[in-house]
Amino acid sequence: MCYITKNVQKRFIMIPFNKPYLTGQEYELIEKAFSKGKFSGNGYFTDKCHRFFKDHFGLSNCFLTNSATSALEMASLLCNITKEDEVIIPSYTFVSTATPFALRGARIVFCDSEPTSPNIDVLQLEQLITPKTKAIVIVHYAGLACDMDAIMEIANRHEIFVIEDAAHSIASLYKDKFLGTYGHFAAFSFHETKNISSGQGGMLVINDQSMINRAEKIWIKGTNQLDMQRGIIDKYEWVDLGSNFYPSEITAALLFAQLQKIEFIQKKRKTIWNTYYEQLHHLEIKEKISLPIIKDYQSNNYHIFYILCTSISERNNLIDFLKQNNVLAVFHYSALHSSPYIQEKSTNKFELPNADRYSETLLRLPLFVELELNLVTKITSLISSFYESI
Ligand SMILES: *Cc1c(COP(=O)(O)O)cnc(C)c1O
Repeated sequence: MCYITKNVQKRFIMIPFNKPYLTGQEYELIEKAFSKGKFSGNGYFTDKCHRFFKDHFGLSNCFLTNSATSALEMASLLCNITKEDEVIIPSYTFVSTATPFALRGARIVFCDSEPTSPNIDVLQLEQLITPKTKAIVIVHYAGLACDMDAIMEIANRHEIFVIEDAAHSIASLYKDKFLGTYGHFAAFSFHETKNISSGQGGMLVINDQSMINRAEKIWIKGTNQLDMQRGIIDKYEWVDLGSNFYPSEITAALLFAQLQKIEFIQKKRKTIWNTYYEQLHHLEIKEKISLPIIKDYQSNNYHIFYILCTSISERNNLIDFLKQNNVLAVFHYSALHSSPYIQEKSTNKFELPNADRYSETLLRLPLFVELELNLVTKITSLISSFYESI
């Protein structure tokens, strides 16, 4: 018992990196999902979510999935990825950007990040294209858009699919249109670490009309069950390679409750993000750290607040210093080209200095709806005093 009490106290004073936000409406909507009498999925709340994304973000053909990883697996099936194919992805990303394509046997080709942001370096991207390249997966890191005009121009010229890994990118724009509307496909995540969350959850968006019919089957175990529901056929059959990709109505109800509060959630995150920026700007002027750069064509959806330190040892010392002062700041993405799985399998040597640099120097600060501004100020004061002491 004593042990448990101690842990609870410790958690209470520690500022976590993330704390999932509940709007309060979740329980009511989940009960409503039960009351519909059918809650295995593809029902009332799944429809409500699909309509919400269409009305608010212009995402026309949506398929809720169990995760962004599942959504990317659907995209991989829809692109007919095989072991003859190459798929280009940024190395500085989460493993799920790669695995759905590796699962189909594709060779994963790693592209570097830009010098000024973790997003894919479009200049290098074109040099990596070969006759075997079938798809490019791009990641809008921290919800800040990749240069979609340039990427779509290259992809269309070479007749290659573009898949937006939009896991970070809800409610964010490239120029005047929302992310998820540019690629042939886009995958969103509603994992508890993202701005809008259903615990686990994701969504595939399809912008290539010719793919929708097949996607409906892949979504439901490779069967034509939807045609039976529409009364077109009287028994359903196995017609394609698919899986069980759709979430239950309980997950969809939870997601819909969150979506009702998206403006509030984004407003809170914006205030926190801007406070960090203003209070850390003086360290950027003194060239101690770098802050995110927002380009003309990008909007900010305040998914991540990150700083760039000057070396891995400095970054790790800062993490330790913050932890000693009860603040959890975390780094992420061991660049995938150096992962044990790729090192073991691949004979190619990738030299990706920018991806390596972000792996070694990027640090994410706590950012969640209920993070109070006086705590943000506490964190930025700690960071300032760290840099005064070195
Ligand atoms: C979170 C994340 C994913 C995976 O999302 P899940 O919903 O957990 O499968 C994929 N790509 C990126 C860039 C992510 O941050």
